[in-house]
Amino acid sequence: MGARRADSALKDWIAAHGIAEVECLLADQNGVARGKIISAADFVGHARTQSLRLASSALSITITGDYAAYKGDAILDPDLRLEPDPQSLAVLPGFEGTRAGVFCEPLTQAGEPWPSAPRNVLKALIRLYAGIGLRPVIAPEIEFYLLGEEGARPAPYGLEAMARRGSFFAAVERASAAAGIELAGALAECGPGQLEINLRHGDPVRRADQAVLFKRIVRHAARELGLAATFMAKPMGREASSGMHFHLSLVRAKGEANAFADARGADTDALRWFIGGLQAFLPEIAPLYAPHPNSYRRMRPRYSAPVTLAWGRDNRSCGLRIPLSDPANRRVEVRAPGADANPYLAMAAALAAGWLGMERRLEPGPEVKDAIAYGQKPEFPRTLDEGLARLATCQPICELLGDPFIGVFLAVKNAELHSFSDVITPWEREHLLDQV
Ligand code: GLU
Ligand code: MG
Repeated sequence: MGARRADSALKDWIAAHGIAEVECLLADQNGVARGKIISAADFVGHARTQSLRLASSALSITITGDYAAYKGDAILDPDLRLEPDPQSLAVLPGFEGTRAGVFCEPLTQAGEPWPSAPRNVLKALIRLYAGIGLRPVIAPEIEFYLLGEEGARPAPYGLEAMARRGSFFAAVERASAAAGIELAGALAECGPGQLEINLRHGDPVRRADQAVLFKRIVRHAARELGLAATFMAKPMGREASSGMHFHLSLVRAKGEANAFADARGADTDALRWFIGGLQAFLPEIAPLYAPHPNSYRRMRPRYSAPVTLAWGRDNRSCGLRIPLSDPANRRVEVRAPGADANPYLAMAAALAAGWLGMERRLEPGPEVKDAIAYGQKPEFPRTLDEGLARLATCQPICELLGDPFIGVFLAVKNAELHSFSDVITPWEREHLLDQV
């Protein structure tokens, strides 16, 4: 879209929706929305003159709200330029239709993509695939808990439990429709108060934007009913964990054929090698699927958690599942990312590993047939430290995701780990204090 057309598209959309304020958004390393709120008139003016700016340290804020020092950036803290993506304009929940949000592409002053921005990392991978005539398509499935919910323990897929939550769902559906998010289905999950809502398949960047907004919609709808929603990977020790699985396929830009199935409907080499890459680079990309110490508590062999990245068809004990489908919908379900993962980064990680698999023709391990996959290789790393160390030294992944991004991501994660290690858990005090 030309600059002038983009301007008038922004203006028209704002007028048509009666918007008074606009949130200029970007997602930080943890997928937390950061940005600023400005009047609609100022927004249109700034967008026209390309003068929307934000301190670049917004991209290196830790989950504890501190700045991770990275080569002095936190001190110099230069501005980044924000280029609004008009296609991402969405009415935000809780503002009675007066406030919109727009995801912005962070740029350098020279107009280059700001390399440590997670959205730009994903966009770069999409461009890489476009270069070989492929278009990744992704459908995220997001699990979460509603906390503070009264009533009986719901059963998985319990439609009665779903009916009780009618007003919550109605609010989520309303706000999602207003924000242009297409929902593809909802179900009651295993844990008490645990739900899953799926987004329709589509462009990864758009789906990642929508996942960020969707979490906000869910939190807002829960708060309105006196509840709280959490996307922590493992909020309760002995209950099911929350994942953000995504279904991933590659479509040929010419002719729209699915690159994971051939003309006779059989799996292609591309699918096999893609899976080979997802397995081979698991230890290195694990921190992008499981970015917090809590994420690793999810990796226990219960409740269909993705403890292993063995692959299988229609087998939920496998971290990589080929769901039953016709050839046109052949896809791999990447089950390892947690609900706490940054959607841009989890998707970028899978696309990078899959890319390397295809480039290097990496054969996957044996298919798991009619068996529980738990115990099979490759197993998910046990701790975040282990994954961070592997990521830091994995040259091909660092190259695909970009060294500047890896530097900021590692600085943020290491700062968080440091702060986490300062806290002694009740378990340690209870069992160690006067025994060891
Ligand atoms: N809750 C499980 C997880 O943490 C997955 C359950 C399912 O198969 O949907 O990934
Ligand atoms: Mg589920």
